[in-house]
Parts: sequence; C-alpha cells; structure tokens
Amino acid sequence: MSTKSGESVTVGTATAAPGEMVRGAIAAGDLAGGVKVEIPVVVINGAGPGPTFWVNAAIHGDEPEGPLACALAAKQIDASKLRGAVVMVPCVNPLAFSAAERGNPLDTFTYDMNRIYPGKPDGYFSDRVADAHWQAMKDVADLEISIHSGGAHSFLDKAIFVDERPESVELAKAMGEGWGCIMSNFTKAGSPMAAMNNAGKVGITVELGGRSYTSPERFRYVGKELAKSILNICYHYDMLDGTATYPSDATKGQQEALLAPASGIFLPEPGVDFLTMMKKGDTIARIINIFGDEVGVLHAPADGMFFGLRALPNVNQGDWCCFFNKVEGPRD
Ligand SMILES: [Zn+2]
Repeated sequence: MSTKSGESVTVGTATAAPGEMVRGAIAAGDLAGGVKVEIPVVVINGAGPGPTFWVNAAIHGDEPEGPLACALAAKQIDASKLRGAVVMVPCVNPLAFSAAERGNPLDTFTYDMNRIYPGKPDGYFSDRVADAHWQAMKDVADLEISIHSGGAHSFLDKAIFVDERPESVELAKAMGEGWGCIMSNFTKAGSPMAAMNNAGKVGITVELGGRSYTSPERFRYVGKELAKSILNICYHYDMLDGTATYPSDATKGQQEALLAPASGIFLPEPGVDFLTMMKKGDTIARIINIFGDEVGVLHAPADGMFFGLRALPNVNQGDWCCFFNKVEGPRD
C-alpha cells in the first residue's frame, strides 16, 4: 500500500503517524509455559507520500546479519525526510533466533519457515507464525527484501534471487554497487518473496554473511553493507534524497548446490575467490581424510562463480559445500 499524505501506517501494535518511527510487535501465539510469541516490528512512516518498503530478517534463526542491518539502517532513516514508509521486521522467527538455530527447535514438521509461506492459521506452530507475519505484511508492503546469510555453517557473499520480472530485477539492482550476482529464484513457492510475487507485488531474497564473517569486524562490515543497501533502495525509489549506486557487472544465472563427494576436511583451493568468474571444471575445493589423503574434489559445474562456501571444515559426504552461480550472461 503506497502511503498517502497524512495517513498513519499500522503493523501489529505499531501505528506510526506521518513523520514518526514506532516500534511494536505482531502477535504470533503463545507457548505451553505461558510465553507470548511476538514478532518485533519497526514502522518508519515518512512525512511525505510514497511506496512502502518492507525488510524481513532472521526467518532463519542462525542468520543475525539482517537484524543488525535493520538496527543500523533505522538509525539512518529520518522519518521527517522520508517519502513513503519503511517497515522492518528484524526477526521474523523469534523462537529460532533465540535458539540460534535455522528453525524453531520446538517445531519438527515446519522447521524451515522459509519454505511454508504464506503459512496457515490452523497449521503447525511455524505455519501460524508465518501466517501472522503474512497477514500483517500482505496489504501493507509494496516492495520486500528478505535478508539471509550462510548461517551457522557457511559464508555467502553478495547474491540475490529474483523471479525475473523487470520490477523484481529493478529492486535487485537497487541493492547497489557490488550486488551483481543476480540469479533466477529456485523456489517458486514457500518463501516470503514467493508469497509477495504470487500476490502481484515485488519481493527478492538477498544473501550476505555467515559463519566465517562473525568476528566483530567482519560482522559489523556485513551489517553496514546491508544497511547501506536498505538506504540505497530508498534513494532509488525516491523515498529519500540521495544518490543511488548500482552494480556495474550484473549477471544472469542459475544456482546449483554442490554437495560433498567424500567425508573429511574441506579445503578451498588457494587463489579461488567469491564472485569471480571460473571455467567449467576448475577446482573449487578439495576434501582430505583424517590422515591428509585427498578423497574428493569439487569442480565448477559450469562457467560461472561461487557465491557461497562451506565455512565449517568438518564435512560428511552429502553435506552442503558450495553455492555456484551458473552464469548465463550479463544483465542489461
Ligand atoms: Zn536463510
């Protein structure tokens, strides 16, 4: 819903008048011990009219980069200068986040909340949390980004998934400089972006950060980069005064997940790097056994680049090792 002059914006318990930033929560049920489950929300309603840009983070609870990005971006957005509204949900899955796990450990059947949208009001617990979130978002948001990272076991460099509609690619490019690895979405249903797109709106999934980037300096870097992109999107859609940047070398491609051919210790090949073009067959990493003998090699499945690598060296056969972008060509 685009905001009009003088209109307030309400999400859950937060109602922000024009020019206000208000915190609140979306009620999402309660637990056996009497604990109320609430999804925190920040509504920044601009003094002027414009689109509503919605940011989702930590639908996977082991991905704290999005929450940091929301906190940093909220400090930089002056509601009195904003046109439209920015809504931030820094922690879509509060039980998973509290456990620092991908999903809510109390929920076996709908553990991965990024696969069950738009949720169900009478489903398993995470279905109900997803439904509460979706009901709050569906009529308010025009543009949506879902922030992800490599979580507990990997690092993902700047990468985006889109549904290939021009308006989705436009939002992806509005993430700014360095965000040229833009791939076709691999899940047509189940994620907040898919639910948004199925509702005729615009949603994308963005990836940055993870295990090997959680040292203080690197974690701060990731948070700042993502916050910069939130601001860049506001510049691009003329929601704030400022000059937007764009990726200079955006490519089209398809993701392929590479799994471990053997068990042992995962060792990326010296000299290989994220978001750098490789030839089909080039070595990405080797796996050595506990005695140091090479037992497996990971090769580039096509010309392209990897944007995600396992950061936890211990590996069992069949474990996830690498996200590779099979590059099809440049984007216009
Ligand atoms: Zn994720």
